[in-house]
Amino acid sequence: MKIYYDDDANIEIIQGMKVAIVGYGSQGHAHANNLHESGVDVTVALREGSSSWKKAEEAGLNVNTVSEAVKNSDLIMVLAPDEFQKDIYESEVQPNLKPNAILAFAHGFNIHFEKIIPAASNSVIMIAPKGPGHTVRSTYVNGGGVPSLIAVYKDALSDQEFSARDVALSYAKANGGTRAGVLETSFKEETETDLFGEQAVLCGGITALIKAGYETLVEAGYSPEMAYFECLHETKLITDLIQEGGIANMHYSISNTAEYGDYLSGPKVITDKTKEAMKEILENIQSGNFANEFLNDCRQSNDGSGGPFMKSNREATKTHPIEEVGRELRSKMKFLNSQKLVDKEIN
Ligand code: NAD
Ligand code: MG
Ligand code: MG
Repeated sequence: MKIYYDDDANIEIIQGMKVAIVGYGSQGHAHANNLHESGVDVTVALREGSSSWKKAEEAGLNVNTVSEAVKNSDLIMVLAPDEFQKDIYESEVQPNLKPNAILAFAHGFNIHFEKIIPAASNSVIMIAPKGPGHTVRSTYVNGGGVPSLIAVYKDALSDQEFSARDVALSYAKANGGTRAGVLETSFKEETETDLFGEQAVLCGGITALIKAGYETLVEAGYSPEMAYFECLHETKLITDLIQEGGIANMHYSISNTAEYGDYLSGPKVITDKTKEAMKEILENIQSGNFANEFLNDCRQSNDGSGGPFMKSNREATKTHPIEEVGRELRSKMKFLNSQKLVDKEIN
């Protein structure tokens, strides 16, 4: 598979465009600041009265309403939450879109599941960093970047000397992505693998594993603090080793006792039944059922703060004993606070 690096991308294409970034959340703040510092003409597009307005201005960025920003832009990167994108698109983006403007996304959700149907004259591309927005920003500031995916859903740029793919690569370069490597995919592949990964492994899988391990130790009479360090804090130390050099690299660093226990017990925790469940999760994503379930839950909230399923689970997480003991222990680990990825005051 071809992987694109800095030398494969022409940053001047995106530097020659007016870019609107809709939303200033996790991804939005990262793209807006990274592109701005890469010499791109960026406007952050927000709702009137948005709490992000001040944060973006204080970062030295142009800010405007979505309607006004879209009117003047050659490329619109949609980084509002997936569940609001269709409404924002229909009410504020589409009516103000230049006929040949390029629509860009960082996740294929609304295009692939056909919630947003763009006009034939608009190109549609994706630049999707494979990491949290706060990491997209912090790695860029440190001279690095987050590996990213690009995809072209529609290229309507036949009258230009560059293609939609060239634009996606150029944007990825300005965002730091080509420093780490950019892979080309399709909207379908990105959407389905991204949803599967976050549900089965990265977010759903790992938090369920951590909680089950913690509960098992505490229920057996061990102290919550011990269980927290063993089952939550150490996950980062272990995954850092895995990310750096693969699974064998982690096995090299841990004791032989731990390595033996890994081979013995891993397959007892993640069994054939777990894989069956993973297959069902994947099928539920591929069929579009997951997308509809999620959007239906969101629709039941009138203030956009999450539907009943989302809210009850957020509350249950917040009050889980592992979060309570964690808050206490982390407050003593000053080094964790000195280099925070998430600071709700500024990002
Ligand atoms: P987010 O929830 O962090 O932020 C969304 C921002 O959108 C808010 O901060 C707000 O400024 C803005 N917003 C909300 N309603 C709006 C409206 N009506 N008009 C204009 N702006 C509005 O979102 P996010 O997690 O950064 O996700 C954005 C996109 O990036 C999604 O498509 C998501 O799937 C994708 N993505 C996110 C991550 C991630 O790290 N969070 C990673 C890869 C891809
Ligand atoms: Mg995702
Ligand atoms: Mg140990």
